[in-house]
Amino acid sequence: MQIAANSVVLFHYTLTNAAGEQLDSSAGQEPLGYLHGAGNIIPGLENALAGKSVGDKLNVTVAPEEAYGTIKDELIQEVDRANFEGIDEIEPGMQFMAQTPWGQQPVTVVKVEGDVITLDGNHPLAGETLTFDVEVVEVRAASEEELSHGHVHGDGGHHH
Ligand code: ZN
Repeated sequence: MQIAANSVVLFHYTLTNAAGEQLDSSAGQEPLGYLHGAGNIIPGLENALAGKSVGDKLNVTVAPEEAYGTIKDELIQEVDRANFEGIDEIEPGMQFMAQTPWGQQPVTVVKVEGDVITLDGNHPLAGETLTFDVEVVEVRAASEEELSHGHVHGDGGHHH
């Protein structure tokens, strides 16, 4: 069975950045599952998996535009410490949920200078060219329930 729209796909992967540093891997864990055509994974990887089948291995390099997007300067903002009521220690690397014009978004503290806190709402992997080493381990048809939810249930997925 080849991967096409409405396939449930389980795959193992190792993710590296352009510098060759390993960022993530499913080795030694459950494979990752997704519903093909539902936008569960980044477009560049989903497109590369189309037409593949169990046992296929691929090495895909994905530009930021087809991964987590380019870095958007308008998502980097300076705010006053007064916005962090009840939080004593604010340090670079901390993450918060923030109310933005696009709803609740995770933001990362990138700089702290006195009362001026710089927040970055870009995805941590925005601007990165990513390489995925992938092995397809299962391909099956999605159930009606999975199609209506738009994601995988059972192994490799999640239950609601
Ligand atoms: Zn569900």
